[in-house]
Amino acid sequence: MSTVKALIGQAVDRLADDLEALSRKIHDHPELAYQEVQAAAWLADYLTGQGFAVERGVAGVDTAFRATMDTGSGPTIAILCEYDALPAIGHACGHNIIATAGAGAGAALAAVRDTLPAGRIQVIGTPAEEGGGGKIKLIQGGIFEGVDVAMMIHGFDRWILHQDLLGIVRVGFEFTGKAAHASADPWEGVNALDAVIQTFNNVSMLRQQVRPDARIHGIVTQGGAAPNIIPEIAACTFYVRAPRLDDMWDLHRRVIACAEGAARATGCTLRVIDLEAPYEPLKRNNTLLGLFRANMAAIGAMESPPLADRMGSSDIGNVSQVIPAIQPMVQIAPHGTPIHSRAFEAAAVAPLARRGMCQSAKTLAMTTYDLLADPGLVKKARAEFEAAK
Ligand SMILES: [Zn+2]
Ligand SMILES: [Zn+2]
Repeated sequence: MSTVKALIGQAVDRLADDLEALSRKIHDHPELAYQEVQAAAWLADYLTGQGFAVERGVAGVDTAFRATMDTGSGPTIAILCEYDALPAIGHACGHNIIATAGAGAGAALAAVRDTLPAGRIQVIGTPAEEGGGGKIKLIQGGIFEGVDVAMMIHGFDRWILHQDLLGIVRVGFEFTGKAAHASADPWEGVNALDAVIQTFNNVSMLRQQVRPDARIHGIVTQGGAAPNIIPEIAACTFYVRAPRLDDMWDLHRRVIACAEGAARATGCTLRVIDLEAPYEPLKRNNTLLGLFRANMAAIGAMESPPLADRMGSSDIGNVSQVIPAIQPMVQIAPHGTPIHSRAFEAAAVAPLARRGMCQSAKTLAMTTYDLLADPGLVKKARAEFEAAK
């Protein structure tokens, strides 16, 4: 290992207690999408203290930030932090670890600033991953325009260098029928809840005829006011996911047809509601992954084989469609712990999570160092990105 990388590792070890305290603070004060006021401020304060020039509320997003350290003319490498929590189950996606691994990587690089090759390091705070598409707003706001390469990690129950992400489109259906007394005059009513139930039944049948890597799942968001009133309004929301964007849009069309059929069958009228911008699939970049893998091996992190069936979606996918970007999965919970579970929420502040956070901070910082030390690698990552278009 190079001397600078050894120094990066030592810096993370030295900062580990502070980073763990920050991680716990974020974890214990879960904030939902675009409401991550405390988490964003704590991270921005921390990076300011480490010598970064921090801009708060970038791209018109109050809880986004950009922390920059400039060491001269060279590539711009971004390390991304997420810090939003989930409704009801808090930090069950471990974004407190993403946040502190990213901030820790920045801090470790700041600690070796005098020995860094010329370039620019940005730690970017990206809110609202669990819904709301914070990174999409930052892309639209031009935050990634001057960035050559972006990377982040995500907590998981094992180390996986690259996990495919599904594209996701979210759609709402609102059915309008006609209220009537459910016992005295049911034949006068048009039952909007029946349309919702029929939509679920239609989607269940559709699901038999889709590819195994597609996902369609929904909840009822409105189901009537009282059992003695034929529901006048009922609504549901579906998420539709597929590994390719064209397949995703095709499936989206078929799911809408399920709702249209339900409306027809029940005599309701249907309003289709587009819900927030789609998340795009993760574009793979082997140049960046290769560097990350070598640094993982150097710090003794054990890589597991990729998993074909445990796929989610994230707005890092959208970033990966505009610049080379990676999101390796990092072990922060015991094997077999599902994410978005209460067990994962508890694991995200356990000793294994501290270890994963420190290992991630080191690997992210070392990979950033590699890219600054050899800008040819940045060009190679870009060429691979272009070729994959
Ligand atoms: Zn999540
Ligand atoms: Zn997550």
